[in-house]
Amino acid sequence: MTNYRRWAFTVGLSTLLLLASSPGFAQAPPVQKLSSEEDIRAALFGGVPGDRWKEGLLFEGIRPSPWMNSAANWFPGTEEVQPNEMRVTFMGTSPMIRPGQMNTSIYVELGNGDNFVFDLGEGAIANYIAARVALNELKRVFLTHLHVDHFGSLPYLWMFGTWNGGWHERLRIFGPSGRTPEYGTAKMVEGMKMMTGWHQDAFSVFPVGKGWDIEVNEFDFRDDGGVVYEENGVKVTHWRRSHAKDGASAYRLDWNGLCFVWTGDGRPSALDAKYAKGCDLYVTELQQELVEISSGVQGVPPFLARYTIDTHHTPAYAAGYVANQVQPRMFMTTHMSFDPYLAEETVAEVREFWKGPYHFGAPDGIVVNITKEQIWVREGILPDFPNARSPQFDFTNGQLIVPYPPTSRQEIQEQYVRDQEIDPDLYYPEGFKPDLLQDWPVDSDLVVPVEALPDNLKESMGAAWRHREANRKILEEQGDN
Ligand SMILES: [Zn+2]
Ligand SMILES: [Zn+2]
Repeated sequence: MTNYRRWAFTVGLSTLLLLASSPGFAQAPPVQKLSSEEDIRAALFGGVPGDRWKEGLLFEGIRPSPWMNSAANWFPGTEEVQPNEMRVTFMGTSPMIRPGQMNTSIYVELGNGDNFVFDLGEGAIANYIAARVALNELKRVFLTHLHVDHFGSLPYLWMFGTWNGGWHERLRIFGPSGRTPEYGTAKMVEGMKMMTGWHQDAFSVFPVGKGWDIEVNEFDFRDDGGVVYEENGVKVTHWRRSHAKDGASAYRLDWNGLCFVWTGDGRPSALDAKYAKGCDLYVTELQQELVEISSGVQGVPPFLARYTIDTHHTPAYAAGYVANQVQPRMFMTTHMSFDPYLAEETVAEVREFWKGPYHFGAPDGIVVNITKEQIWVREGILPDFPNARSPQFDFTNGQLIVPYPPTSRQEIQEQYVRDQEIDPDLYYPEGFKPDLLQDWPVDSDLVVPVEALPDNLKESMGAAWRHREANRKILEEQGDN
């Protein structure tokens, strides 16, 4: 982003216009004699001994990176993931859904262009859209367990992701087995297929391609430390969590010397300390020890909150305790209530054992940029009425391929209801009637050379692909060195 746009963001357009119209704005001050080098240094570097001093809670390597447009905020669509960077965004942060906090989901983007969704709770998909992620970019979903606050958005992603360009890659879902097959991830997906049967057939009047294909990767939940995914230099391992019922897992992703852990839900466990050891970003869930006060705010009776925490969850004290064993470069907690009355207490409880870098992975939109040198956490600015990103396509073959729809209205709808549709000539005013597209306009796959696409489509629909290719080239050159 140019300096001008960055400045406009900060100052705001209205201020800009105000300044531009005020007298004297355009006049540079007269040239004066330069101050002495000594004076300049004393003023510009005043208060900073040497290069930099240790600032309060800021730890070594915890600082913004130079390419960030703002050190405080992340504006979706204004920064690219750097070739050697891992970017983690909290797209849903609470088990209790409410407008400011959707159900849990964590989005991990890597410099090699790969992305990974860890859990996809109810409502979280809205934050992906607000963060300018095209739904057809999301093809790898890792579920920690099958509480609905961790996968509620999955049917929406599958249906609408297919509709809007998810034609060329199947959806891949990774998740644990249960103690018996009926409680495993594969069975849940089977149930989802049944639940979305009508929707799927209805949306089959649109291009589909591989959109309805799902690859389920159900792993044995008991296989602690097992590898569930290994491609393109990325490795994801898992281990068991104690979450009242068999079939809850934690994940660790390793790539390019960087590591991310999301434990999912569960009681603090020796397995977490073992498998997350030394990870760069360690994320666990957290429940504050304020069940009586919280019951007045959140409406959960204290005994119910107490019982739920003590059988299912990680108290804040325990979160800090485990973090101290893991010793990450950054410790974060999510799946937590984000309320002002809780904030200080949460920090105090975590700090009982963990003295290192710590941030809330809440509310929704918190973004973490991680490189080997630096980590920085910012508030993402997710608009209520965002400009959604165009579907993203891989144009390596120089073509946009739009698959022929599997069905048509004639095949799945009675003629009678279409006959009852009001004649468009009756409601379009004179001269305002578009060419209606009531039948799919071609009778086979539509194959368009990329050059024939209008510039705006070529630019917007190929943006992720171009960025991925550029980053991969840089990574390859690094590898050659
Ligand atoms: Zn949960
Ligand atoms: Zn749960």
